[in-house]
Amino acid sequence: MPISVFDLFKIGVGPSSSHTVGPMQAAFKYVSALQENGLLHAVERLEVHLYGSLSATGVGHATDHAIIMGLLGERPDRIDPRTIGPAIAHLKATGVLTLGRQKEIAFDWANDIVFHEESLPHHPNAMTLATFTHQGERVHDNTYYSVGGGFVVEQAQVDMPLDELDGTTLPYNFDTADELLALCKRERLSVSQLMLENEKVWRTEDEIRHELWRIWQVMCECIDNGLTHEGILPGGLNVKRRAKLLYQRLQVAEQNSCLIASTFSAMEWVNIFALAVNEENAAGGRMVTAPTNGAAGIIPAVLHYYMKFQPGACEKQVVDFLLAAGAIGILCKKNASISGAEVGCQGEVGSACAMAAAGLADVMGGSPEQVEHAAEIGLEHNLGLTCDPVGGLVQVPCIERNAIATVKAINAAQMALRGDGTHFISLDKVIRTMRDTGKDMLDKYKETSKGGLAVNAIEC
Ligand code: SF4
Repeated sequence: MPISVFDLFKIGVGPSSSHTVGPMQAAFKYVSALQENGLLHAVERLEVHLYGSLSATGVGHATDHAIIMGLLGERPDRIDPRTIGPAIAHLKATGVLTLGRQKEIAFDWANDIVFHEESLPHHPNAMTLATFTHQGERVHDNTYYSVGGGFVVEQAQVDMPLDELDGTTLPYNFDTADELLALCKRERLSVSQLMLENEKVWRTEDEIRHELWRIWQVMCECIDNGLTHEGILPGGLNVKRRAKLLYQRLQVAEQNSCLIASTFSAMEWVNIFALAVNEENAAGGRMVTAPTNGAAGIIPAVLHYYMKFQPGACEKQVVDFLLAAGAIGILCKKNASISGAEVGCQGEVGSACAMAAAGLADVMGGSPEQVEHAAEIGLEHNLGLTCDPVGGLVQVPCIERNAIATVKAINAAQMALRGDGTHFISLDKVIRTMRDTGKDMLDKYKETSKGGLAVNAIEC
């Protein structure tokens, strides 16, 4: 099934694309189906069933809150994150849930959301929504899989052939990096140019540029918010926000000419940009999946770094960066996964690091081979990374991990640009290795908070 760059960069809310954005979208779809099929009036009771990783870390990732907001008729790209807290408090106080802003039903928070230990076969992030009449007869039920990056698959779609889901034909379809490179060579296009041609099957060039610029504006607002807000992040771990303080310190240091123009200073800037985004994510702020929320700091931070330090950088480079990054995200999603619940953090932070490295290499004038090499380095050195968020919250190790991967992405692009694009291990082989490593990884390291730092940090 063709994947658009806009499937990878989606406006939503924190803290998780798979556990917050996807479930909210699924709940919105469910209530829309009730409305479209004239079933809403019959509903008197509703049950939410969470399975696998959605159950294990759903509370820490605000999955329950997200589903309720979706049932109320909210969508991740339109919701004002500031309304979530009051709406949840109101529901808990009154016990009344207004489905799709139309139908009031009684809702018992403690009993109507059921957390199951087991996983459903198709994917570790599964949820079932079921509604009943006053007499207890079933009105409608559906199971949704939140497969990472805010993508949602319904039960009926699981066994459907991919071309039946979306029959769009791309001018330059590619399933592997080798195919992408061959197409770029044959058509004499850069990676971003080829992606632009593919995107034109869905939108005009003006619309593509306009929408990607809007995505970038939301990324910038997120960084600005993260550099402004301070205090303790929600969830009970008492993690203190650092971005604002570090930002102020760096500004003073630069004024005093202590660090100016040094590599060290540039690295500090990218650290701060990434921390700002991921602290906003942890606080449930307005976000762009890139390609997920947990790894959402890396691409904005690297692009911000480029825009800050590259003279003459403008809108064209923003668009090219996101398009080239998107090409790599498509390869990771098609051939492995961008979901921490499926392959561990290598799928989230690793994919984002590869995407950012590719975007930077492309706007620095890298050939398609150098772009592929940059992505390969970025992903190779995140292989095996587990997902073990402490307390089920997207805070530790997630926030700092984004900053580290941001620096890694810049380094990867620099190394690739110094070479001629030839290298020992191909991106395709690294993506395959990520897939195989993810399969071998124990479930306790796949967004369940049952292993790794999630266990040892609490014990300490
Ligand atoms: S450890 Fe990585 S994959 Fe897991 S929640 Fe954090 S950022 Fe996402």
